[in-house]
Amino acid sequence: MSEVRVRFAPSPTGDPHVGNIRTALFNYLYARHTGGKFIVRIEDTDQVRLKEGSDKAIFDSLRWLGLSWDEGPDKGGDFAPYRQSERLDLYKKHAFELVEKGMAYFCFCSSERLENMRQVQEAAKKAPMYDRKCLSLTSEEIKTKIAAGEPYVIRLKVPRDGMTEFDDLIRGRVVFENNVIDDQVLLKSDGFPTYHLACIIDDHYMKITHVIRAEEWISSTPKHIILYNAFGWEPPKFAHLPMVLAPDRSKLSKRHGATGVKQFAGLGYLPEALVNYLAFLGWAPQDEREIFSLEGLGKEFELERVNKAGAVFDINKLDWYNGYYIRHITTADLAKRVLPFLEKANIKTEYNDYLVETTALIQERMKSLQEAPELLDFFFMEPEYEKELLIPKKSDIETTKKALVKCREVLSELQVWEHDALEAALRKAATDMSLKSGQILWPLRSALTGKSASPGAFEVTLVLGKEACLKRIDKALEKLSA
Ligand code: GLU
Repeated sequence: MSEVRVRFAPSPTGDPHVGNIRTALFNYLYARHTGGKFIVRIEDTDQVRLKEGSDKAIFDSLRWLGLSWDEGPDKGGDFAPYRQSERLDLYKKHAFELVEKGMAYFCFCSSERLENMRQVQEAAKKAPMYDRKCLSLTSEEIKTKIAAGEPYVIRLKVPRDGMTEFDDLIRGRVVFENNVIDDQVLLKSDGFPTYHLACIIDDHYMKITHVIRAEEWISSTPKHIILYNAFGWEPPKFAHLPMVLAPDRSKLSKRHGATGVKQFAGLGYLPEALVNYLAFLGWAPQDEREIFSLEGLGKEFELERVNKAGAVFDINKLDWYNGYYIRHITTADLAKRVLPFLEKANIKTEYNDYLVETTALIQERMKSLQEAPELLDFFFMEPEYEKELLIPKKSDIETTKKALVKCREVLSELQVWEHDALEAALRKAATDMSLKSGQILWPLRSALTGKSASPGAFEVTLVLGKEACLKRIDKALEKLSA
């Protein structure tokens, strides 16, 4: 069998949505699994829907997730250009070729006429279909209209009887009655091709072997097959991926919260977590394993194991993966990833040992990088808090003051700045004062962090360092005396 060639063919209409990226991922994985090629092609022929900057957002998202491509607009390749707006002549030439072969025809109908027709059909509860008025134009009439500069489109002449069928690699045999397929516009009056024409010409010339795309495109596939037949080309194999659904089983959209890849990055998700999660949206390996690197997924991924049923996007499961990867990457790596989130929250630091040590203290409890500023801020600036925070539930202001004075003494005198020595000294202090350990450790920890929840008193003390600790204890004592 010839080399597998698959493509991700996004339209640049904004920040790519997780549904699109799941399609990109499955194409990527299939290429890696089969040792084939993964191609990125930008489908920018719908001038109305283009959004500036989307190309960059698409490439950035793919790079962030580690989905590298073998051919594409920035990379080139044997079948360049990979941007449809740079291939317009090719589409035009082929549209005219179909007219010559009698497989397509010029249509001069005005948009008003088409709109009226649509409304009448809709009122009669019929599917909107072009009525083929222009099919009966004589070649003389056509010539005259073109010479007079009348705008036209080119339409595919879809056979009116029979069926168009194909074997979908995921859904099995799919059959469409030809009489429900509209005479699709191939070339628009602005000279741009429609998606259908451009897509199949590119898939053909770029030697795409497998078209793996979302299920919403399945009704386009019979049109594509009719086009392949009209050109006398062999169609590729098709695999239509199950829809990505919201928990209410409607199509996942912005109203369900974050859906853009950049949004997930901004919310502190790790690319490893998103990749691992997205791979399971409609696919599962043969066994129970859930944790896979991108490479591991490439080894495992088979189209035969993709489900037909819609896949529900479950943010809790994504959070679970995120927590897993946060705990399992190295602390040094995590600290690097935390840094931009601290910067964004105006916490001034750089990548250094101190950042790594502080990150280590929150690695187990952090569920998203976005939580880092809230969890770490007190390591980088003096905390702000109310004095009530310092007083444990079963204690009082005087006891708390005494406890903090004692902590100050213990820390000042501590010879070795390490965990066991610190713990022993503080516990001894509590016993000597006939206090419960909480009555001394709570005031200390809250004086250092200004928070009711944080890593433990010993860990925070050790990382913060003697000088900072003494300063914060003094401040706490001042508060209690005010
Ligand atoms: N440009 C289409 C999209 O935006 C591509 C569909 C296909 O893969 O054929 O998803």
